[in-house]
Order: sequence, then C-alpha cells, then structure tokens
Amino acid sequence: MSKYLLYSMTYEEAEEYLSKHDMVILPIGSHEQHGPANPLGTDFLIADALAKEAAKRTGVAALPPIPFGVSFHHMHFPGTITIAERVLEEYVLEVLKSLAKWGVKKVLIINGHGGNLYPLMIASRRAREELGIKAYIYQWWTSSREKLAELFEPEERGHAAAAETSLNMYLNEQWVRKDRLKDERPKKHELENKIITFTYTKEKSRSGVFGKQLNATPEKGKTLFDTLIEDLVKIIEKI
Ligand SMILES: [Zn+2]
Repeated sequence: MSKYLLYSMTYEEAEEYLSKHDMVILPIGSHEQHGPANPLGTDFLIADALAKEAAKRTGVAALPPIPFGVSFHHMHFPGTITIAERVLEEYVLEVLKSLAKWGVKKVLIINGHGGNLYPLMIASRRAREELGIKAYIYQWWTSSREKLAELFEPEERGHAAAAETSLNMYLNEQWVRKDRLKDERPKKHELENKIITFTYTKEKSRSGVFGKQLNATPEKGKTLFDTLIEDLVKIIEKI
C-alpha cells in the first residue's frame, strides 16, 4: 500500500488513516478533445498527477480521479464523453456523502476541467449545508494564475494550448503526437465580452485548439508542474 493513496489501502489501513486525518484530495477531469496532438484524458491525467504528488508531499490521501466531466461543447470531436451538470453535482455529492460517514470534514477537489466548475460549486455549497463538509476547489490555471503568466503568454494558456500541452509532454510524453501540434486563433463571437451564451468549440476552432500550442516543451511542463505543486502544498497546509 501507499501511504498517500486511499484506494491502495485495505479497510483496516483506511480506518487508521481516517482516525488521524479529516481531509482527502479528490481529482476530477474530463474525457474530451484536446486538439490533434493531446490525448482525450488530458484533464483527468493532469488533475490526478497533481493530486498524487500533493498527497505524497503532504500526507493527505488522494482518491482515484473522476474521469468524466461536463463536455457538451466538445461533442463534435470523436471520443469525447459528456455527463450532465446535475449528474456531476449528484455524483460528487454522493462521494462526499460516503466520506462524511467516515469522518471526513474537508475535501480538496482538484478540478482539471473548467466546464465542471458550476456543478462543483453547487456540490460544494450542498456539501456544506447537507453534510457539514467543506469542499475546496483548486484549478491550476486560476489558482496559480500569476506563476502561469510568468511562463506562458495569454495565447498559450487557452484550451489545449502550450501550457496544458507542456504539462502533458512532461507527465505523459508517450501520448503526445508532436507531429500534430497546431496553433489556431479561435474565432470570436461578435458580442464577445457583452453577452454570455453557449457555443460549441467547433464554431470557434476547427482543430479544437484555442491559441498557440507549438511552443510547448516538456521542460516548460516540468517547471509549471513544480510551481503548481509548490502552490498546492501551501494551500493544503493552510486548509
Ligand atoms: Zn483541458
């Protein structure tokens, strides 16, 4: 067993962990297109890698990743799987309900996919009200925004762009098709920043990439990952 992965423990080992700790880490992602170069699992793979490393450094146990998320906007791209917002909300809440039974009071959700945010916020509100659990949501591209901006330009921080691709190159190099990297400037809605409306990715980007991807390297991925982990460890210690 590993001391920092709940799913590697037996129930006796879990009982011991839960008698001493009231916190766990829950990674969640998506199974959706990330352009022609990146694997569909990008979001849950990154969330899981962050969760495992943070767990190892802090001793707060990580759960297995929830791989599916809210990805309706990417459904023109083969292999993408989506689940409804209300299903994700209930699913996460059910997981938290089980954790509440074992005395868990705090859960750090590492969210790897922006489309999951609203249902996770509702789940967090309900967890507080219905279970007495505080669920905190960490997203690497917002929680570590300043550091990200030092390493990548705005056009390199979009969906499947250089920042995300670099993390993939560092963490899952064997699954990145380097000969298929692409830059694509996404089309803007004529009322961009004036109204909010649902749009499909296909209406804005032919390849599914938002911005510049060609500058991605595994070295930048490692620097970014190390920076994110540093931040994450501090956040966990404060929580
Ligand atoms: Zn992603």
